Amino acid sequence: MQELTKGVLRFETEIYPDKKEFLDRLIARQDPHALFITCSDSRVVPNLITDSEPGDLFTIRNAGNIVPPYGDVLGGVSATIEYAVMALGVPSIIVCGHTHCGAMDAAMHPEKVANMPIVRSWLNHAESARRIVLGYENLNPKQQALVMVEENVLAQLNHLHTHPSVASALALGELELFGWVFDIETGHVLSYDTEQGAFVPMSVDHIPTATPRRRRRLL
Ligand SMILES: [Zn+2]
Repeated sequence: MQELTKGVLRFETEIYPDKKEFLDRLIARQDPHALFITCSDSRVVPNLITDSEPGDLFTIRNAGNIVPPYGDVLGGVSATIEYAVMALGVPSIIVCGHTHCGAMDAAMHPEKVANMPIVRSWLNHAESARRIVLGYENLNPKQQALVMVEENVLAQLNHLHTHPSVASALALGELELFGWVFDIETGHVLSYDTEQGAFVPMSVDHIPTATPRRRRRLL
């Protein structure tokens, strides 16, 4: 705790005064660019990998960047999604997985967490990803781990669609979805591109999106 206490003191005396003018503008309201859903892993730091500031990201973190489907667990994740979409009107939701994810390793190999019933139960929300990965043949262990991370991001994006606030905003074209994988070995972030059906590098000219096609109302 000594390191963290020293950090708080440095923040109070050096960093906060430096940023005070900027932070004061956030006192009255927040208008974040996105709801950012990622893993609790200490090596994944949303503001660091997006080079963003306080006020930019409304964040949900849990083991494995899981989004329980609507109606199953109406807990903190579901409430935070509803608040982000309906109260804050976030224009984007990003689900960000990462390489070397302990939760995804456990989801792939449930025997490793046999003595942790709550973790096992939580990771059941990644079971569809596990089934998909088991169907892919000829993957070596490293490839299997990466594909599990990717398929889990896609599974959680699918779960997002089941939340009424998200379904409604998507149908109205008011919300975009993104699926990212952060590689902690290289610092690169790949983004899922629905058109290509793959995780690809992003650029300012081409921002890959996992947003489904907007509804065309025929009446
Ligand atoms: Zn993780």
